[in-house]
Amino acid sequence: MKYLVDNFKKANSNSTLTKLYWKAICTLYISDFDEYMAKIKSANTRAYDWMMLQHPKYWANTHFKGCRYNHLTSNISESFNQCIFQAREKPLIKLLEILRVKLMGEFSNKMTRSLEWSDVLIPKTQKVIDLRRDKPRFFHADTWAHDGMYEINADKKYALNLEIHTCSCRVWQVGELSCSHAIAVIDHRHEDVINFCGIYFIVQMYRRTYSLPFNKMPNVLELPEIVYTTVMLSAVRRTAGRPKKHRRQTKYKEIKRLKCS
Ligand SMILES: [Zn+2]
Repeated sequence: MKYLVDNFKKANSNSTLTKLYWKAICTLYISDFDEYMAKIKSANTRAYDWMMLQHPKYWANTHFKGCRYNHLTSNISESFNQCIFQAREKPLIKLLEILRVKLMGEFSNKMTRSLEWSDVLIPKTQKVIDLRRDKPRFFHADTWAHDGMYEINADKKYALNLEIHTCSCRVWQVGELSCSHAIAVIDHRHEDVINFCGIYFIVQMYRRTYSLPFNKMPNVLELPEIVYTTVMLSAVRRTAGRPKKHRRQTKYKEIKRLKCS
């Protein structure tokens, strides 16, 4: 999303429009999304057209199918790219070996760190829950409707369903982490919030992710059964010049809608 916004900034040097664009990306309500987009359209039709070249389901929280777990960035791919930066020029076997060693070290560090955690939820998630738990103090009474359905009176009214983990504020279903309204009701029922969070926020699942074993490898010189043969060049024709190492920024003019003739 950051790169999308950066490209938007380059194409439209207007900070107000950029703020509206970011709000349209992050909002959880379709009514708010429509409102922000209408403002952008009335201020600059060209900027609006640029945004709508890609369907909102690719960049807006309101239209995204599935759960984003509150992530709006592609930092993981950037980090990985940076991590293998030096290795990319190595021969294939060497490259794979560098990746294997890096991943093994990373998995080991994460596993070791997680062993220090004593809570059921991972620390970052626990912090979010604690922050959200502070808010219900300002809520008015929650009203039970029926079968796990509740109505919360806060800045406005919210409809909550404990059975299917949804709230009309949409925070719960988009991030799979209970919103402040849900926490108010769960605490009121003397139940455990952990039972209402997505399983990927639990320490046990975190450890399971990084518990995959790596095959131990001896030094290459101790592998006599491997016969090194000459690696033939691929049939792909190489273009002139050195291959690009850095990420190519998308230019405004390069984004074109494809049309069938
Ligand atoms: Zn809510």
